[in-house]
Amino acid sequence: MKVKTRFAPSPTGYLHVGGARTALYSWLYARHAQGSFVLRIEDTDLERSTPEAIEAIMDGMNWLDLAWDEGPFYQTKRFERYNQVIDTMLEQGTAYRCYCSKERLDAMREAQMARGEKTRYDGHCRCDAVQNAHTAAEPHVVRFANPQDGAVIFNDLIRGPIEIANKELDDLIIRRTDGSPTYNFCVVIDDWDMEITHVIRGEDHINNTPRQINILTALGAPVPQYAHVSMILGDDGQKLSKRHGAVSVMQYRDDGYLPEALLNYLVRLGWSHGDQEIFSLTEMINYFSLDAINKSASAFNTEKLLWLNHHYIMHSDADYVAQHLMWHMQQHHYDLEQGPDLITIVKLFGERCKTLKEMAESCRYCYQDFSEFDQEAAKKHLRPVAREALERIRDKLAAISDLDWTVENIHTAIQATADELAVGMGKVGMPLRVAVTGIGQSPSVDATVFAIGQTRSLKRIEQALAYINAREAVSN
Ligand code: GLU
Repeated sequence: MKVKTRFAPSPTGYLHVGGARTALYSWLYARHAQGSFVLRIEDTDLERSTPEAIEAIMDGMNWLDLAWDEGPFYQTKRFERYNQVIDTMLEQGTAYRCYCSKERLDAMREAQMARGEKTRYDGHCRCDAVQNAHTAAEPHVVRFANPQDGAVIFNDLIRGPIEIANKELDDLIIRRTDGSPTYNFCVVIDDWDMEITHVIRGEDHINNTPRQINILTALGAPVPQYAHVSMILGDDGQKLSKRHGAVSVMQYRDDGYLPEALLNYLVRLGWSHGDQEIFSLTEMINYFSLDAINKSASAFNTEKLLWLNHHYIMHSDADYVAQHLMWHMQQHHYDLEQGPDLITIVKLFGERCKTLKEMAESCRYCYQDFSEFDQEAAKKHLRPVAREALERIRDKLAAISDLDWTVENIHTAIQATADELAVGMGKVGMPLRVAVTGIGQSPSVDATVFAIGQTRSLKRIEQALAYINAREAVSN
C-alpha cells in the first residue's frame, strides 16, 4: 500500500519549531517510502483560526521547502461530508443523540467528583427508552457509542504497544448542538478519506488516538499506524516557548538561518543515525526511520543550531546561500548594482559570519559609502604616520588597469608598499582597511578592496587622508 502521511496544523498561530519538526518527520517518512505527503488545515475552531495563521504556516513550510503532494485541505470545507457520516452512524447505531440538559450533566459531574471518580458521561441517553421519548427536533448533541468492553491496543511506532481499556473512554460528542462536528471526529474522517497510512504527530495527541481508533473501527475504516513524537524543551528543561528566543520558523529566517541548517537541526532533535551530525536532504530521506526517533523529550540548543548554520554557510553551494542572502540584503535596501555580486559576498564573509543577517550587516561598506569612521579604529590606524603608506598604496592601486584588478595584484601592491617603507604588511593593511571599510575588522584586506572596487577604494583612501589631515590640523 502506498505510504501517505500528513501534517495537520490548527491555524491558530505561526509555524513553530515543534510543528516544523513534526512536518519534517512526516515529510521525510513519505519521501523515504516514495509515498505522498498531505497538508491539511484543521480550521474547525472558528474562533481561534485565522487566515493570517494559515498563510504564516504555509510561508514556513515553503521557506523550509517541505512541499506537500496533496492539499491543502480545509476541514471547514468538509462539514457536509462529516455530517453525512454522522447521519449514517446514527442510522447504524454507532452514534446516538444525547438530550441531556446542561443541568443534568453538571449534577452528574459533581456527583462523580464527590465520589472521587473520573468525570465521564454516564451513557444516560444510550438506550431505546430515552431515544423513544425524544425526537430529533429537540436540541441535542450526537455522541459516539464507544465500545463498553475490551480495550484499544495499538503499537505506537515510537513508543511501542499502548493499551487503554474502553471503560476509560466515554461516549465522545461528535456533533455539537449547533450541528458542527467536533475536532476528533473530523480528524478521523479526514485520515480515512485521505487514505493516511501513518499518522505522525505530537505526543499531546496521544490521548486522542484510542478514541479515534474506536471511531475508525466502528466505521469499518482501516486504522493507520501512529507515531507520537515527544516534546521539545528549552535548554532549561521547560517546555519550549517564546521565552527561549525564537520559536517561529520565520523568525529563524529573519535571524539569518538557512532553511537547510534548520532542517538539519530539527531532524537531529529527537532522531539519530549513528553519530552523524550533518545530513544533506538526500541523506535525511535515505536514512530516516521512525524507530530511530527518541522517546524522551529533546532540549533545544541554540548554540548547536548556530554552529550548523555556520557550517551550511561555509559549505553549501555559494549560489544557494546567495539566494537566501538576497532577502536580508533587501531588508537593508542596499543598491546591489553598487557593489559585488552576492556570491562574492558569500565567499568573502562566509568564514566570519554565522548568520546571513550578520553577513548582510557586515558587508554594508561594499554597497554604501560612509562619511564617518569607527572612532576607535580611526584613532588607532588613521594617524599621520599612516599617511605615507596610504598615499603609496593609493598610487599603486590607481595604476592597476581594469583588467588587472585582481586580489593577487592588490596583494602585491600592499606587499610592495610595505617593502618600500620597510614595515610589516599590517602597517599598510590596517590603515587601508579602516580607510576602505570605515571599521577595524573585515575579511582579508586585499579581497575586501577588490570587492569594494577600484574607484570606490581610491575615493575612500582620499577621504581617509583628508581625515588624517584634519586630525593633524586640530592637534597642531
Ligand atoms: N491539528 C492538530 C495540531 O495542530 C494536529 C492533529 C493531528 O495531527 O492529528 O496540533
